[in-house]
Amino acid sequence: MGRRRDLIVIGGGPAGAAAGITAARAGLDVLLIDKATFPREKLCGGGFTGRSRRHMGEIFGRDVTPDLFLPCNRFRLTAGARTVAELADAPTIWLTMRRAFDAMLLSAAEDAGCGMATGQRIASFDPKLGQVVLASGEEVSAPVIIGADGATSMVARRLFGRAYDPARVGFGMEVELPRDGASDADAVEIDLSAAEWGYGWSFPKPGSITVGVGGIHRRNPTMPATLDRFLGGRDQDAARLRPRGAFLPFGEVRPVPGMGTTLLAGDAAGLVDPITGEGIAWAMKSGQLAAGAAAEALAGRGPEMALPRYRRAIAPICAELRRARALRWLFYQPMLQPAFLRLLAGEPRLQRRYLALLSGEADYADLGWRALPRLAARMAGRSFLTGA
Ligand SMILES: Cc1cc2nc3c(=O)[nH]c(=O)nc-3n(C[C@H](O)[C@H](O)[C@H](O)COP(=O)(O)OP(=O)(O)OC[C@H]3O[C@@H](n4cnc5c(N)ncnc54)[C@H](O)[C@@H]3O)c2cc1C
Repeated sequence: MGRRRDLIVIGGGPAGAAAGITAARAGLDVLLIDKATFPREKLCGGGFTGRSRRHMGEIFGRDVTPDLFLPCNRFRLTAGARTVAELADAPTIWLTMRRAFDAMLLSAAEDAGCGMATGQRIASFDPKLGQVVLASGEEVSAPVIIGADGATSMVARRLFGRAYDPARVGFGMEVELPRDGASDADAVEIDLSAAEWGYGWSFPKPGSITVGVGGIHRRNPTMPATLDRFLGGRDQDAARLRPRGAFLPFGEVRPVPGMGTTLLAGDAAGLVDPITGEGIAWAMKSGQLAAGAAAEALAGRGPEMALPRYRRAIAPICAELRRARALRWLFYQPMLQPAFLRLLAGEPRLQRRYLALLSGEADYADLGWRALPRLAARMAGRSFLTGA
């Protein structure tokens, strides 16, 4: 049966690294397996919110540092060529490159004592036995396993037959543009009309600008053409820039984040904000909670208690993401969006609220939900009046 560990974590992104460091600090004998050798590329806008900063500080004891994070307070909200809102004093969003950021988190986990098996493909995984066989032939087993292997999770496929629901999953495409001389290099820009049930973005980084489009995959069957159009509006030729694409769970929180003694964290559990696409903060937090639940279960009534403990621990995150999902129509419903954008353009207070959500300064639970019917009524009034 190979070497027996207390915990195996599959995947070394923010969710896996957070699980690894938490488990190691709790005194567990933990092994993290990732098929990639780090540093590795990860397609992502790299937008790092106040929420991400808080979670990183709490879990890894690190703060945003100039070598990895570029702070930005300029924000532009657009709808095609039209500017809906522009602020020079928006709440800070930091921008990071995932290649360096993920490697930093993983080495923090290793320094804390988490065992590493990176650059190792998994030949087979048996959730009932808690056993993983690596492509090298090495076997390892543990009473609890955490699947933190991303949106196309092999662990979720093994448990549930598929990693995501094709009707709900999101898809994003990005390119890196050179920063030199670009007029949009100084601001975080969101274009709410760039994709259906999604948006386009331009995120300044220390050495480049990440430009991309993303949204519900089914609503954007020709995402390469959507990206072409978005880049065309910035005088850029997509074909020359070698765009890349990736799935992200965009409004499909798993009802149960695991099965038996296998827990799912981060994208594998569907923990991405269905309005903003933010996933890094929830990945770190869920990784921490999954490892915490595993440690408590192993110290107490046994490994089968890890999943019920973890479910309770992440319930507030799931509730928050479900609130966002309930609100998503306001932003993206094609019939309502023009009225919503007009309302947003004319109301600085509403712009601030949207920015507070986007930057992780506020939660959906903090929104004045009682004001929602009034907002909808005002939007309806405007759309009828303007014929939108
Ligand atoms: C285009 C795009 C833009 C985004 N922009 C943002 C943004 O600006 N801000 C934000 O907060 N979020 C953003 N997200 C979401 C964010 O990238 C994810 O939510 C986050 O990376 C989830 O972290 P994770 O650790 O769960 O998974 P990942 O970061 O995907 O890590 C999974 C790890 O598992 C490994 N793995 C996969 N399969 C196996 C296997 N079979 N065996 C071993 N290892 C395996 C992979 O190599 C990888 O290292 C974006 C996503 C996309 C697609």
